[in-house]
Amino acid sequence: MNQEKELIENGVVVISGDAIEAVGGPELLERYQANEVIDGQGGILMPGMVNTHTHAAMVVFRSLGDDLPDRLKRYILPLEKKLVDQNLVALGSKYAIAEMLASGVTTFADMYYFEDEVAKAAKEMGIRAVLGETVVDFPSPDSKEAYGGLAYAEQFIEKWHEDDLITPAIAPHAPYTNDSMHLKKAAALSEKYDVPMIMHVAEMDDEVQKYKTEYNMTPVQYLDSLGVLNDRFIAAHLIYVSMEDLDILEKRQIGIAHNIGANAKAGKGVPPLKEMVKRKMKVGLGSDGPMSGNTLDIITQMSLVAKIHKLFNRDRTLFPAMDILEMATIGGARALNLDKLIGSIEPSKKADLVILETSSVNMQPIYDYYATIVYAANASNVDTVIVNGKVLLRNKCFTKFDFSKTREELMVLSKEIKTMIS
Ligand SMILES: [Zn+2]
Repeated sequence: MNQEKELIENGVVVISGDAIEAVGGPELLERYQANEVIDGQGGILMPGMVNTHTHAAMVVFRSLGDDLPDRLKRYILPLEKKLVDQNLVALGSKYAIAEMLASGVTTFADMYYFEDEVAKAAKEMGIRAVLGETVVDFPSPDSKEAYGGLAYAEQFIEKWHEDDLITPAIAPHAPYTNDSMHLKKAAALSEKYDVPMIMHVAEMDDEVQKYKTEYNMTPVQYLDSLGVLNDRFIAAHLIYVSMEDLDILEKRQIGIAHNIGANAKAGKGVPPLKEMVKRKMKVGLGSDGPMSGNTLDIITQMSLVAKIHKLFNRDRTLFPAMDILEMATIGGARALNLDKLIGSIEPSKKADLVILETSSVNMQPIYDYYATIVYAANASNVDTVIVNGKVLLRNKCFTKFDFSKTREELMVLSKEIKTMIS
């Protein structure tokens, strides 16, 4: 995923500390003395994948009311009100991070409540993350007051903004759950600390209707009129956007989290990805929260992105596998403004790497590595995961993290939730 999209057979990557020192062929084995040599055993070494949009802790509610039209009001909002506290967010985040790491995600972007708990979980488990504290115009699990997220976010940003793994951010939930004054305040905070601003944009059809009726604008035009769109802004979804909206978004150089799996499952619509890519916008892939997207890995998303957009455009040549892999790695890094650090296997970049094994039945034969990864691989083919130079997954097992304990705790909580809703 470097500029030349180089592919090296029998490649060797040298890691020193948290960074990549050299990339090349077997001759590097002679040139360097290593404390540890990991033999890829014929696997595929690739850049770690980037999940550009999720709500990790919501994994505790996964598979609840999936196919119901009123699930937001019937399940999500009441359960969040009743149950979401620091402990739930800490537990859910750990569980979700385990799922992401085990599936080759080395960086994720999150927006939820008690984001400090997500940061602590991410830091403890060693994954890289962009974490946005949610701001909404009603009392939320971590604030008795409307817009309490703003004050929480400022403290949160102060605490984490120099961390090497965590990029703190501010995340107004959506244009329609924040008034214009508070959106500007959030943008001012993003500017003051030079941190990302994450938001759901143009995701709902009634959202489009609201801005049409109230301002005769699209949601994108409305946000631009407030002056909040810039290269720190990360927009999730962007389903209902016109070509004029894309002109604005391209000019403002915003990052895009494309969540096709969640969008398709909700029957919402297909974002104009072909046009976004043609304009070379910063597009990455996202799973969305586990109540919307159910799985947190990006391998599933790659396959969906390819197939849905080929089908939508009735063109099998569109979005070749190499371009899809680009979105899953360096594209996601660009969307999060982390592309100087991660997203490709190049000297001086951080060592965020994944090895897919090729011995499983679904992985052979291989005539084209990109097609194998995008169309044949699944999350369980991920064998080894390295983040910031540290091996976190080896032979499909966590090296440091006690998953069975977290799983036990999640089972106890889900039993409680089952009694509550029955
Ligand atoms: Zn979302």
